[in-house]
Amino acid sequence: MDISKNLSLIRHRLAQACDRAGRRPDSVTLMAVTKGQPPEAVDEAARLGVNLFGENKVQEAKAKTPLCSGQLRWHMIGHLQSNKCRDAVGLFSMIQSVDSLALAEELSKRAGQAGKHLQVLLEVNAVGESSKFGYAPDQLLADLPRINALPSLEIQGLMTVPPWSPMAETLRPVFRQLRELKHRGEDILGAPLPCLSMGMSGDFEVAIEEGSTLIRIGTALFGPRAKPLRPD
Ligand SMILES: *Cc1c(COP(=O)(O)O)cnc(C)c1O
Repeated sequence: MDISKNLSLIRHRLAQACDRAGRRPDSVTLMAVTKGQPPEAVDEAARLGVNLFGENKVQEAKAKTPLCSGQLRWHMIGHLQSNKCRDAVGLFSMIQSVDSLALAEELSKRAGQAGKHLQVLLEVNAVGESSKFGYAPDQLLADLPRINALPSLEIQGLMTVPPWSPMAETLRPVFRQLRELKHRGEDILGAPLPCLSMGMSGDFEVAIEEGSTLIRIGTALFGPRAKPLRPD
């Protein structure tokens, strides 16, 4: 795997998508998703200028982050159980996968105990897939004021993992829906939600055209992941 070459291509495609949408390339942050990848891959991406990394399991992040060089920024992007919140608060500067009021309350409690303010995104299950975690849009809007009132959390925006599709173009309405939901959230809060985390290896250009500010890229950067030993 030539991570350097892959990264150049991704940055080029990112810039072109921004150009098509009349946006500045620096309005989109590139996250390297390192689940299933070794610390050496993280170090290589960091050396090439990537400064944001994502993991989807607390255990894997806990094992990996101490083996990586330098001060890196990590976000949690996978489903979080309440008994892992304390560890998560120590490992991550942002939790992108808040999907219930109960989880938000637990995170706020744990962040408070650690003397931290924790940035969060609310994860949206935009098309109601039963196999996926995430808020239904209506429930998200209903819970928003209460999450916003929690003392140690700062809501930064929304995140989604759309259904898998071989044709990214078919996901455009999903990304658009998320952008519109963000606007409705901003109206409710009376404050801006700066972050819209959407777009992965197969669909990030469409996501950028529809307003993504943070794309989460795994396989297009690092190649295929090692299979986990057992599913969980
Ligand atoms: C694995 C993962 C990604 C990266 O997916 P790729 O298709 O490999 O780019 C992005 N977001 C989440 C939440 C993931 O779990």
